[in-house]
Amino acid sequence: MEANQFREFGKEMIDYVANYLENIRDRRVLPTVEPGYLRPLIPDNAPDKPDKWEDIMKDIERVIMPGVTHWHSPRFHAYYPTANSYPAIVADILSGAIACIGFTWIASPACTELEVVMLDWLGKMLGLPEVFLACSGGKGGGVIQGTASEATLVALLGAKARAIDRVKKEKPEMSDTEIVGKLVGYTSSQSHSSVERAGLLGGVKLRSLQPDDNNKLSGETLEKAIQEDLEAGLIPFYAVATLGTTSSCTFDRLDEIGPVCNENNVWLHVDAAYAGSAFICPEYRYLMKGIERADSFNFNPHKWMLVNFDCSAMWLKDPSWLVNAFNVDPLYLKHEQQGSAPDYRHWQIPLGRRFRSLKLWFVLRLFGIENIQAHIRKQISLAKYFESLVRSDERFEITEEVIMGLVCFRLKSSNEINETLLKRINGRGVIHLVPSKIKDVYFLRVAVCSRITEEPDMEISWKEVKEAANDVLSKTA
Ligand code: PLP
Repeated sequence: MEANQFREFGKEMIDYVANYLENIRDRRVLPTVEPGYLRPLIPDNAPDKPDKWEDIMKDIERVIMPGVTHWHSPRFHAYYPTANSYPAIVADILSGAIACIGFTWIASPACTELEVVMLDWLGKMLGLPEVFLACSGGKGGGVIQGTASEATLVALLGAKARAIDRVKKEKPEMSDTEIVGKLVGYTSSQSHSSVERAGLLGGVKLRSLQPDDNNKLSGETLEKAIQEDLEAGLIPFYAVATLGTTSSCTFDRLDEIGPVCNENNVWLHVDAAYAGSAFICPEYRYLMKGIERADSFNFNPHKWMLVNFDCSAMWLKDPSWLVNAFNVDPLYLKHEQQGSAPDYRHWQIPLGRRFRSLKLWFVLRLFGIENIQAHIRKQISLAKYFESLVRSDERFEITEEVIMGLVCFRLKSSNEINETLLKRINGRGVIHLVPSKIKDVYFLRVAVCSRITEEPDMEISWKEVKEAANDVLSKTA
C-alpha cells in the first residue's frame, strides 16, 4: 500500500469509526451468531493478489460487525467497563506508526521517558504517596503493564525474590528450593481469579481467606492465617488486597491489612483494577486509606479512565526486587546508558513492549483532570440512579452497597428465579448483564460501562429488567 492509498483508507476508517461509535446505541448489544459463523463468510485461503481496501471496508459490516459484542454501547452492563476515547484511538495510530519495541531506554528513549513521566502524572492525580513516584528521587516508580493480571504476577515474583533473599540471609543453609517450598501468600476468596493464577504460575502456595460479613478481607483474618503458618514452619511472603472486587466492587480493609503485612515481612500488593480510577476524585480516596503500607499498587486506566486497552498502571516502592530477579543481560540488549534510566524489560514478563504511554499522554492532555473526574463522577451517579430505580420496586433488593459504577441486585426470590431472570434479560437482546454469586446468593450486576451513557439509557435498562421480571414472575406465580 502506497502512502496516498493509506491516506484515503485511513480517512475512510476514521469516518467509519466515528459513525460506529456515535450510532452504537442502534446496534443489538449482543450478537446472535452461532459458533463458526465467520469461516463461511471469507475465502479458505489468503489472496494471491492484493485485495482492494474498499473491499475490506465493505467486509467490516458483512463479516465482522455481526459477530461483535458492542462493549461501548450504553446497553452493555457486563463485567466492568473497558475504556474507549478518541484521543486514545488517535494515540494508538501514532504508536502503530512509530512501532518501536521499547524494551530498553536506547531501544526508543521517548518510549521509556514518557512512560516514567506519565506514571508520575498519574500517581500524583491519584494522590499516591511520593515513595511510589520516580520524581521523588527515591527507588520508587511506575510502569505500564498489559493487564492487572500481569501486575499481580510480577508483584508476586518480586515478593518471592525478596523473601528468598531475606531467608537466605537468616538461614544460609536453606536452598532456594527449600525456601520456595515453604512460601505462602494470602488473598481473599473475593479477589480476582488472576490472583490464584499468579500463585499457580509463580509456583507458590496461596491461601484464599474468608472475608468478613461485609465481604471485606480484614487485618485480623490475615494476622490469624500468618500466625498459623509461622507456627507450621511456613514462610508468609505475599498478600493481595483488592480495592473494588470483581463480583461486587467491595473494598478490603487496607488500613488493617497494611500493618499486618509490614510487621511480618509480607509484600502487600493492592489490586484496584477497576475502582482505582475513582481515586483521581479526592472524595473517593478514603477507600485507599493505608496505601502507604503497600509495596505495589495497580489499577487499569484501560478500564475506567478513557484509555483504550491495554494500559495497566503499576507502581512499586522498590522495583529493584523485580529488576534484579528478572535480570538476564545478553550482550545484544546492553547499552551504554544502562542504569541511568529504567530498562522496562526488567519490570515485566515479555521483552517487547508497545509505546503505550502515548495513549495516557493524549488522554490526560485532551480531557484534562477535571473532565476525567467528571466522567467518573457521572458514571457513579448513573449507578446510583439505577440503584434508586431498583429500590423503587419492592420485588427487588440491592445486595451490595453501591459505591462505584456497579449495582448488584436480585429479585427477592430464589437463585433459580434470578437465574431465569438473567436468561430472560439477555435473551431479549436489548441489554447485556452478567451475574455473580457470593456465599451462595446469586445476583445480577449492572455496571455502567459506556462513556456515552445518560440517564435515559439507564431508564431503558431498568425497563428491560422490570419487563423481564414481570414475565418471569407471571410464569412462576
Ligand atoms: N482484578 C480485578 C479486581 C478485576 O476486576 C479484574 C478484571 O475485571 C482483574 C483484576 C483482571 O484485569 P485484567 O484483565 O487487566 O488482567
